[in-house]
Amino acid sequence: MSRSSDPYLLTETEEVKERFSQMIEETLKAILDSYSDGSAYSGMGPYELREKITSLGFLPDEGKGFEAVLEETKKIILPHMLRTWSTQYMPHLHSPVLTETICSELIISCFNSSMDSWDQGPAATEMEESMVHGLLELFGFPGSGDGCFTSGGSQSNISAIIAARDWYCQQKFNWDVKLNGLPPEYNKLRVYTSEISHFSMDKASHILGMGYNAVRKIPVDDRCRIDLEAFEKMLEEDVAAGLYPYCAVATMGSTDFGSIDDAAGMRKLCDKYGMHLHADAAYGSGLIMSRKYKDRLSAISLCDSITVDFHKMFLMPISCSAILVKDKSLLECFELHADYLNREEDEEDGYINLVGKSMQTTRRFDALKVFMAFQTRGRNGYGDIIDTAVDNASYLYGSISKDPEFIAPVEPELSSVVFALKAGDEVNKKVRRQLLSEGTIIGQTVKDGKVMLKFTLLNPNMDHKKLDSVVGRIKELGKQFSC
Ligand SMILES: *Cc1c(COP(=O)(O)O)cnc(C)c1O
Repeated sequence: MSRSSDPYLLTETEEVKERFSQMIEETLKAILDSYSDGSAYSGMGPYELREKITSLGFLPDEGKGFEAVLEETKKIILPHMLRTWSTQYMPHLHSPVLTETICSELIISCFNSSMDSWDQGPAATEMEESMVHGLLELFGFPGSGDGCFTSGGSQSNISAIIAARDWYCQQKFNWDVKLNGLPPEYNKLRVYTSEISHFSMDKASHILGMGYNAVRKIPVDDRCRIDLEAFEKMLEEDVAAGLYPYCAVATMGSTDFGSIDDAAGMRKLCDKYGMHLHADAAYGSGLIMSRKYKDRLSAISLCDSITVDFHKMFLMPISCSAILVKDKSLLECFELHADYLNREEDEEDGYINLVGKSMQTTRRFDALKVFMAFQTRGRNGYGDIIDTAVDNASYLYGSISKDPEFIAPVEPELSSVVFALKAGDEVNKKVRRQLLSEGTIIGQTVKDGKVMLKFTLLNPNMDHKKLDSVVGRIKELGKQFSC
């Protein structure tokens, strides 16, 4: 018995190509019809939305066909999607996306290449390698460096910490962690990072079997950068107490403040104590494209490894990130051969299998987005995007720090501004909630025990007038909630 071919599976036949084109066209129309103003969100609250979404059901016995599903999606889901491209959306490092990289996503999904072995993505493998080599040059790691795309900054960070730990244990204790697991001294290993660093450091330390207590949090100065004197003192005390400092992490663009640690100063201490220095530039890596502010990132090339997120300042769809290392042997911690996947004999003949550099096995061809965006924009086009974001932040800081109704404790180096109405925690919280229901989404965090509001300005379509208008609304609401 023969079965007719699946109408929803991409093949070479004209009929399927035609049908697929229609599906894409209808989907695109549904997306574009789902919004008509510049707001970021419909404003619907969680209970009502939950009811709507659960009413859609889970798995019917008989399929409804694509048209019916698209219709439901259009009615129930799309109107309540968060619209990242809105200039009224600025709570997180969650960016609008460049349309050329949405086209890349379509290519990535259609071909469904996988990055683990050459025979699952020949062009994909060669393209990722080519982009990695370009990135190594761009960030100042030419020569013997290496790198790999990852699912995000968290995975790039943990990859770096694994590499640092394995390297340290090998040269300090002559201990092979890959083979033997953690060394007997495992609970004396310490990683150093600022008290405002990203929580993926703590998660990484736990996952690696060393726990949160192995992460030493260094105090920050009044600009939210690592206090180098405090760092040095901590190292002296820890070594005297018999601990083993193996790694330090310079946050180059802290998640809330965009502050950039002094990697050059940290480098000196890392050399003195024989430590690996990692740059968590998940946020700040975009500055490398800047025409005006690139020098704020110049010490990044002094680090041993770098986390670069393309789904933040670079405005690419989630997910897209990379880990870069100065010495390619650092990534050997992920190398392992399997008979069914990455045979050494193939690698000797030039078939590269990228699984040997990654925590993941099956992995997306995210490098295509970087290629298409870099080629579309060029260095100057990207420079404009980044400079606009940083300029907007300094404009906002300038106007808020002059206004007696606000406090703004940290002058921005990147594109985030943290501030608060002087009216107090409760008023600030209410203002943020009210704005959310009006379709304007801003961030909220804490600084020195006080509730703060936050603008994360990634969107190049943001401008001074729009910023003034949100600030004006915040002041209005502040007055309203103060009485
Ligand atoms: C966003 C961020 C991360 C985590 O990156 P993901 O891509 O969200 O996993 C790590 N470090 C810093 C400083 C960040 O801002």
